[in-house]
Amino acid sequence: MVSPAIALAFLPFVVTLIIRYRYYFLLFYRAVLVRMVQDCLTSLTREERAFQYVLTHATPGDPNSILDTFDHWCSKVEYMSNIGPRKGKVLDRLIVDNAPLTVLELGTHCGYGAVRIARSLQLGARLYTVEMDERNAEVAEKVIRLAGFDDDTLELIVGTSEEVITKMREQYGVERLDFVFMDHWKRCYLPDLQLLEGSGLLGKGSIILADNVIFPGAPHFLRYVKKSGLYQYRTHRATLEYTPGIRDGMAELTYLGVK
Ligand code: MG
Repeated sequence: MVSPAIALAFLPFVVTLIIRYRYYFLLFYRAVLVRMVQDCLTSLTREERAFQYVLTHATPGDPNSILDTFDHWCSKVEYMSNIGPRKGKVLDRLIVDNAPLTVLELGTHCGYGAVRIARSLQLGARLYTVEMDERNAEVAEKVIRLAGFDDDTLELIVGTSEEVITKMREQYGVERLDFVFMDHWKRCYLPDLQLLEGSGLLGKGSIILADNVIFPGAPHFLRYVKKSGLYQYRTHRATLEYTPGIRDGMAELTYLGVK
């Protein structure tokens, strides 16, 4: 049994810890605890619950309304790791400024990023988005169709990023990727980047935007990018989506071509 005097001695330390890491505790509460409770109460996945909300609150055929509704749900109801409105603006700007013709998104999740990219694409451009979780892909498919995008603009592929990258050329007829948005498992960032390099799908000037390189973080990926000499590189600093107080950022890479 711990004596009250010892417990009291630790109190300032515990309070300091809670204050210092309050945003991380809040994130744990919203992303893990609330999700577990809602999973039990609703027998739906978090992504299905988000879609139910979007379906009843957003305007069909209006991508802006769908994104705004997602943002509201993720800020006020449950946490979900979409790119979110703040970092999303950087993504929007890069798509508009660079006008890519062929885009690959790794990590569709529930379709938020795909809708965000597709709404900024020029006429005739095409987005391939990859999701390995079948249940999330079902939700994403409904979100994409609700936003009004057809298969000519936006194609959802169910599979692992590794599988899809290796068959982009033969199965999907893609010769060059102008823009790649990485928002899947952080441990896959580096192997997938190297796979893209080896596949010959990146051309001089191709852009790779990688989310969450600071939190949860992708240190091996960043170290490789800096050392390889294959990229012009910059970081867009921000806070974690829907969570002020936790620093995050996106890495923007411009492929310089084979040395
Ligand atoms: Mg992300």
